[in-house]
Amino acid sequence: MTHPDPASPVWHPFTQHGLGEPIPLVERAEGALLHTADGKAVIDAISSWWVTTHGHCHPRIMAAIAGQAQRLDQMIFAGWTHEPAETLAAGLRAIMPESLTRVFFSDSGSTSVEVALKMALGYWHARGEARHRVVVMEHSYHGDTIGAMSVGARGVFNRPYEPLLFDVARIPFPAAGAEQATLDALEAFCREPDTAALILEPLVLGAGGMLMYAPEVLASMHEICAAHGVLFIADEVMTGWGRTGTLLACEQAGVVPDILCLSKGLTGGAVPLAVTMASEPVFEAHWSTDRARMFFHSSSYTANPIACAAANANLAIWREEPVIDRIADLAARQAAWLEKLASFCHFDNARQCGTIAALDLKTSGEGGYLDTLAPRLMAFFRERGVLLRPLGNTVYVMPPYCITDEQLADVWNTVGEAVISF
Ligand SMILES: *Cc1c(COP(=O)(O)O)cnc(C)c1O
Repeated sequence: MTHPDPASPVWHPFTQHGLGEPIPLVERAEGALLHTADGKAVIDAISSWWVTTHGHCHPRIMAAIAGQAQRLDQMIFAGWTHEPAETLAAGLRAIMPESLTRVFFSDSGSTSVEVALKMALGYWHARGEARHRVVVMEHSYHGDTIGAMSVGARGVFNRPYEPLLFDVARIPFPAAGAEQATLDALEAFCREPDTAALILEPLVLGAGGMLMYAPEVLASMHEICAAHGVLFIADEVMTGWGRTGTLLACEQAGVVPDILCLSKGLTGGAVPLAVTMASEPVFEAHWSTDRARMFFHSSSYTANPIACAAANANLAIWREEPVIDRIADLAARQAAWLEKLASFCHFDNARQCGTIAALDLKTSGEGGYLDTLAPRLMAFFRERGVLLRPLGNTVYVMPPYCITDEQLADVWNTVGEAVISF
C-alpha cells in the first residue's frame, strides 16, 4: 500500500501533499534495508535522514529497549533520577572530551540546540554581561523550532516565520580559497562586546547541501572565539557518532567546544534522545543557592529511561566493537566509488568527509530546494529500490555503517545511472 491514500489523516514532514507523490508504507527494517508492505526491499542510503549508524533494528539496541521497557518506562527527571540516565551521563563523560563535564538531556536535535543557546545566554546573564549576539555560519541548519531556525539559514523554509526569528550575525561559509574572509568576519564579530557565542556544524553543513570545509578552518575559528571569550557551540547532531570518520568531527581539528549538541546517532538512531554537554564554567554560571539562577528548561520526556537504555547500548557497541574500523572501511569504499563514478560520468564537486560522499549534478534548472530536479531524482531512486533524498542538485550517500559491498554497489550504480540520465 502506498499513499496518497485519501483516507490517511497523516500530515507528513517536508512533504507537499498537493503533488500526490507516492508515500511507500514500510513494515520492517534490518541492517541497511527497509522492507515495504508490498514486499520490496529498499536500501536506506541516507540512514533514514542521518540517524541510523550501526544499522536498523540492531540486536543489542533492540534488546536494551525491550529490557528497559520491563523495568521503568518514563518518569519525571526534575529532582529525580534513574540508572539508565546516570549510566549514560557517565558513559558520555568517559568517551567525550574531558572538559565537557555536564550532560543535559532533551529529546531531539532541535531541542539540544535550543538548550545550547539558552545555556550560552544564561552563562553571560549570570556573569552580568550584556552579551546576546549569536554568530552563525551561512548555509547552516540547526533544526526547525523557532530558536533553531533563527540561527539557521533563512529561505523558503522559514519565510512565514521570519518576523519572529531573532537577529544573528552571519559569517560566510569558508569555501576553499575564501577561508580568510570567514575568519576575518568572525574576528570582527568577536570584537563586539555583545557577542555571546558562535554556533556551527563542524566540517560538514548537512542540510545546507553537504558543504565541507577543512579542519584547519574549524581550528582557527575556535582559536578566535577562545581569544575573545566567546562561547563555541558545536552542533554535532549530524556529524557526531562517526559520520565524519571520527567520533566527533571536532576531533579532527583538535577542537573542544564549550557546548556540544548530540542527537541522531546517540541511540544508534533507534529512538529519539538528545544531550547538550557543557563545560564546567557554563554549569557553574548557573550554580547558586538562588533558585532564580537555575537553568529553566525541561521537556516532558527529558532523559526517557527507554531512550537512555538504547543510548547505553550504543555506547557499549562503540566501546566493545571495532566501530571506528567499520567507519574507516566504509569511508574507503565510498572514496573508491566516487572515483569509479568519475571515470564514466560527469558531475561537479565530488567531495567526501568520512562516511559521507556527495556530488553535484550539472543542472540546467535554477537549483535550490524548490527545483523539481530533487523530487524527480528521488522518484527515480525510489523506483529502483534506493532511498536517497537529494538536496537540490546535490546527491549524497550517507549509509549505515553495516551496509554490505553489494548494497553499496547497488546504490552507486543507481547514482551513476541518474547522473547519466538527468
Ligand atoms: C538534524 C539536525 C538538527 C535537528 O535535529 P532534529 O532531531 O531533527 O530536531 C540540528 N542540527 C543539525 C546539524 C542537524 O543535522
